Amino acid sequence: MTQLMNRCYRLRRRPAGTATAEDLEFVEEPVPDLRPGQALVRTLWLSLDPSNRIWMSDTHYHLPPVPIGGVMRGLGIGQVVQSWRDDLRADDLVSGYPGWQDYVIADAGDGAFTVVPPPAPEPLSALLGPLGHTGITAYLGMTDIGRPRPGETMVVSAAAGAVGSVAGQIGKALGARVVGIAGSQRKCQHVVADLGFDACVNHRDPAWREHLDELTPDGIDVDFENVGGSIMDHVLTRLTVGGRVVLCGLIADYNGYGAPPDGRGRLDIAKTLMVKRAVMQSFLVLDHMDRFPEATTYLGGLIAENKLRYDETVVDGLEHAAEALTGMFDGANTGKLLVRVAERMDVPGEVQA
Ligand code: NDP
Repeated sequence: MTQLMNRCYRLRRRPAGTATAEDLEFVEEPVPDLRPGQALVRTLWLSLDPSNRIWMSDTHYHLPPVPIGGVMRGLGIGQVVQSWRDDLRADDLVSGYPGWQDYVIADAGDGAFTVVPPPAPEPLSALLGPLGHTGITAYLGMTDIGRPRPGETMVVSAAAGAVGSVAGQIGKALGARVVGIAGSQRKCQHVVADLGFDACVNHRDPAWREHLDELTPDGIDVDFENVGGSIMDHVLTRLTVGGRVVLCGLIADYNGYGAPPDGRGRLDIAKTLMVKRAVMQSFLVLDHMDRFPEATTYLGGLIAENKLRYDETVVDGLEHAAEALTGMFDGANTGKLLVRVAERMDVPGEVQA
C-alpha cells in the first residue's frame, strides 16, 4: 500500500520583525499509522489569522508559542477520513486546530476538534468567517463592550477585514453611524458601497487624520480597535466622554512581538481614558465558547435579512500559506483570509478504521 504523505509547515525560527516564508520550513513527511483512540483528519480549509504571527513569537498569547520545529498552529475545517475514536466517524466535518498541514492525527480527549453538526453551512468556509471565530469576535466585542446606541458614532479600524467588516455591519444594524478605517481607496469604496458603512478613511492618505476629524464632528462614542499603533493613538483623541474602546486586536504591533520593548510606553492612552471617563476593555473570543450558539444565531439572522455581507480572500494550495500570511500584514486581504487546502472527498461514512 502507498504510504500516505503529509505536507506541513514547521517553525524554523522565530521571526525578527515581519514574518517571512523563510521562518517556516515546508516539508513532506509520512503520516504515522493510526492507533486506537485516534482519528485521521484531512484539512480542507485553513484560517489565516493575525494571531499566527503571535504564535510564531515567544509570547504566550492564550496558547503557548509554537515550539521551534513544531507544526505551525492554525484554525481550520477538516474532514475525518479514518477513525478509531468513538466520538468521531469517518466523513464527519470538524472545526478546530488542524495546523498548517494536509493531515492531522487527532487524539481522543485532546480537544483539538469539534464536530460540525449537519447540515453544514454553504459555503463551508463561512465557519471560519461570519459564522466562526471572526464573526463571533465582532459580535462579542459589539454586544458586550461597544454597545452603540442609535445615532452614536462608531469607528472601526481594519474595516475591510474579517472582524472589522462584521463589527461595522453589526454597528449599522444597531443604528450607529459607522466610519471605517482601511488601507486603500479601493477598500474604502468597498466598505461604503458594499458593506453599508457611512464613510471610510484611507489610513495611507497622509491627511487621514484630518478626514477622520471631519467625519466625526461630535467625536467617537465607540472605537472597535483592530489595529492599535498610530491609528489608535489618533482615534483615542476623539473619544467622547463615556466612550467605549473595544480592544479587539493590535495588529500594527504584532510584527514587533519577540523584539525588546521600545520603551515608548502608553501613558498618553491612560491619560485619555481618565480624562474621558472612558472604558477600554479587551476580550478573547475563545474564552466565550459557551456563547457561540447565541452569536451564530444572531449572525445567521443578519445574513438571512441581508444585513450582513461577507467577503473572502481565498488562496489556493497549502504551499502558498506562508506568503499569504505575510500579505495580511500588507493589507492584501479583503474579508476573511483563507487557504483552500483540499476539496471534500468521498469518504464512506459507515467505514471505521
Ligand atoms: P483582517 O482580516 O482584518 O486582516 C488584517 C488587516 O489589518 C489587513 O488586511 C490590513 O488592512 C490591516 N493591517 C495589517 N497591518 C496593519 C498595520 N500595521 N497598520 C494598519 N492596518 C494594518 O484580520 P482579522 O479580522 O482576522 O483580525 C483583525 C484584528 O482582530 C486583529 O488585530 C486580530 O488580532 C484581532 N482578533 C481578535 C480576536 C479576539 O478574540 N480578541 C479574535 C480574532 C481576531 P488594511 O489594508 O485596511 O490596512
